[in-house]
Amino acid sequence: MLTRVKSAVANFMGGIMAGSSGSDHSNGSDLPMKFPYVRPEFLGLSQDEIECSADHIARPILILKETKRLPWSTGYAEVINAGKSTHNEDQASCEVMFVKKKAGVQSTPSKSSKRRSSLPNGEGLQLRDSPEVDGISFQYWALFDGHAGAGAAVVASKLLHHHITDQLQDLVDILNNSAVLPPTCLGEDPETTSTNSRTLTRAASLRGAAGAPGSPSTPQTRFFTEKKIPHECLIIGALENAFKEMDLQIERERSTYNISGGCTSLVVVYLQGKIYVANAGDSRELQILNVSGYNSCSLHNGLNCSHTIKMQLAFLQPHLLGNEFTHLEFPRRVQRKELGKMMLYRDFNMTGWAYKTIEEDDLKFPLIYGEGKKARVMATIGVTRGLGDHDLKVHDSNIYIKPFLSSVPEVRVYDLQQYEHSADDVLVLATDGLWDVLLNEEVSEAVTNFLACCDPDDPHRYTLAAQDLVMRARGVLKDRGWRISNDRLGSGDDISVYVIPLIHGNKQS
Ligand code: MG
Repeated sequence: MLTRVKSAVANFMGGIMAGSSGSDHSNGSDLPMKFPYVRPEFLGLSQDEIECSADHIARPILILKETKRLPWSTGYAEVINAGKSTHNEDQASCEVMFVKKKAGVQSTPSKSSKRRSSLPNGEGLQLRDSPEVDGISFQYWALFDGHAGAGAAVVASKLLHHHITDQLQDLVDILNNSAVLPPTCLGEDPETTSTNSRTLTRAASLRGAAGAPGSPSTPQTRFFTEKKIPHECLIIGALENAFKEMDLQIERERSTYNISGGCTSLVVVYLQGKIYVANAGDSRELQILNVSGYNSCSLHNGLNCSHTIKMQLAFLQPHLLGNEFTHLEFPRRVQRKELGKMMLYRDFNMTGWAYKTIEEDDLKFPLIYGEGKKARVMATIGVTRGLGDHDLKVHDSNIYIKPFLSSVPEVRVYDLQQYEHSADDVLVLATDGLWDVLLNEEVSEAVTNFLACCDPDDPHRYTLAAQDLVMRARGVLKDRGWRISNDRLGSGDDISVYVIPLIHGNKQS
């Protein structure tokens, strides 16, 4: 990530050897660290081992020790960068969390509990997930890729799962009662909001209050229809808000602590039979299924996803751009000699393209410029989603980039009930250090072939598969650098990889 932050690079030269204070310039190095620099807790490394692992020449691959176990026998491996920053700025965390109903929150009426227990086959009871009615549990895996310092990534790796837990607290009763749609207001009696009759019942009752039920002229009915919100959307909303809260906490606490830079965040939550992947940045997941070949998700790059929103913000609040950037999009950079000529352009509210006469303002630098991995917001940063970066400015200017960076993740849902998974069906999570040099197909083939050769009963096989992927992306040191297959350049970035076997989702759901 660091190479993508132009202004950070300017500080990087002075900051790279500054140790864990990183290159954060605005907080000042006098502030204490919120958390010291560490490697993932689950690796169980001693301080000596952490120091040995930070060898930018040998780049040893760290793996989960055989004595350590992660939920679902998840595999993990990582390697430090080839010298672009002192520390490995990737971070990872993996937890099993229990969400206890928030104290003081009104319980679902007792009759709903009775109803749950009387449902055929225990439907609605999530007791296999949560032995206590007053809580739910979820599995959590996360990767954070820091830039301009390790601070934000370390803080997020320590705290984001607690924000998710906090956001889910209000939902415990609702999620434990999956046969009933969530009430629009908390505390509503679910009897009147059952799946099949909710909209009609409410509309009818409101009509009854205004006039005779079934009255031929009830034009106001349309105002009382409600969207049916599935449980899944509540969990997505909880994840989105947890990311926002995490970002706000970093913003608040950066005046008290040295929380340097920013980070991308890739979070996977398994809850009630479904996997939720929340992604803010350019780390990514790849689902590898034997049942139907591999099923890749499109490259997640915030630049594409939230392009329109950025442009719209720039249009509505042009002062945020200083006088340096234009919110209009052109197929290429406009040159001065093209003033007065007609050129294709697109505004934030357009899907298609049209021609306009080039004016002086169009010569400004585009808010978002470049394609794919080379695209940059304000010529500075390569992602438009992430946490932190509250002090990041356009190089050599006073223009803050944060208004154009969103902390809200894109969330995808995988229903694990969809397939009966085998032991070789996995979800691979990795930072861009992997995806920058290996194609989806290469990753899929490597993992599939590797697992096929392993003892199916060896729980360590997923860590060995993760190690194999890191090895393939790092490559081997040859004369002038790291090389991978076909003599391509290996990744000089930090690389972190989880391999999560999906069969455990079937067992638990
Ligand atoms: Mg990276």
